[in-house]
Amino acid sequence: MKRDEVLRMFKESGALLEGHFRLTSGLHSDRYLQCALVLQNPDQAAALGAALAESMKTLAGPPDFVIAPALGGILVAHEVARKLGVRGLFAERQEGVLKLRRGFEIRPGEKAYVVEDVVTTGGSTKETMDVVTQAGGIVLAAGSLIDRTGGRTDLGVPRTALAVLDIPAFAADECPLCKTGSQAVKPGSR
Ligand SMILES: [Zn+2]
Repeated sequence: MKRDEVLRMFKESGALLEGHFRLTSGLHSDRYLQCALVLQNPDQAAALGAALAESMKTLAGPPDFVIAPALGGILVAHEVARKLGVRGLFAERQEGVLKLRRGFEIRPGEKAYVVEDVVTTGGSTKETMDVVTQAGGIVLAAGSLIDRTGGRTDLGVPRTALAVLDIPAFAADECPLCKTGSQAVKPGSR
């Protein structure tokens, strides 16, 4: 799937908004991503997952399972795993720490693809990679639907994204959009 096609799918579903936004962090940005809106359509989720699976297969050999951090990554892991014909797992936070729960098991030596919906800092992907390696598994590659760091995050393994965006965020008093007199809106508040 071409980058433009991915971005068109995101825009048409409202998953990629353009304007002037106040993010949860308090920072201002000209774009806002809400992947749940594109993934709510199962056909789109399957198409995006299949495309990510194909892209990851060019980076590394086949995995034994795919794993993502909850909640945002669950559907992505599920759809990538479906395409590859392997297990789709997720790790979730318990007292702030990502863990395997619900009886999910990683056997020593098993190989993994680690996926996410959006890479913002790479922190959640890295934590999920740690969950795999601490269980004795091997991370072959990492992938996301969107990389909003402009491709700058180094995860120490081969990585790919269906679309790479460079989305700067600004403190309110340094926001170029505010300087033009525009008002930031909180996404989802309307
Ligand atoms: Zn602003």
